[in-house]
Amino acid sequence: MDRTRCTGIGVCESVAPDVFEVDDDGTLVLSSELVEHDLDTVAEAVRSCPALALTLVDADGNLAEDAAGR
Ligand code: SF4
Repeated sequence: MDRTRCTGIGVCESVAPDVFEVDDDGTLVLSSELVEHDLDTVAEAVRSCPALALTLVDADGNLAEDAAGR
């Protein structure tokens, strides 16, 4: 996540609330248990971010999903 881009609106939280949470001061908090969650839902949340702040990478650090749907 690029915190310089994140506006804290919470679209990602609405798509994948088990993974993303915007706290009371607008800071995005990510679940530390990402591997337990449905990666398709996480990928959808990444694509849904209006600020292009999210990127999903695999265990090797290779790009798996970004806001451009790559
Ligand atoms: S959708 Fe994007 S901008 Fe909004 S809280 Fe999530 S990461 Fe931040």
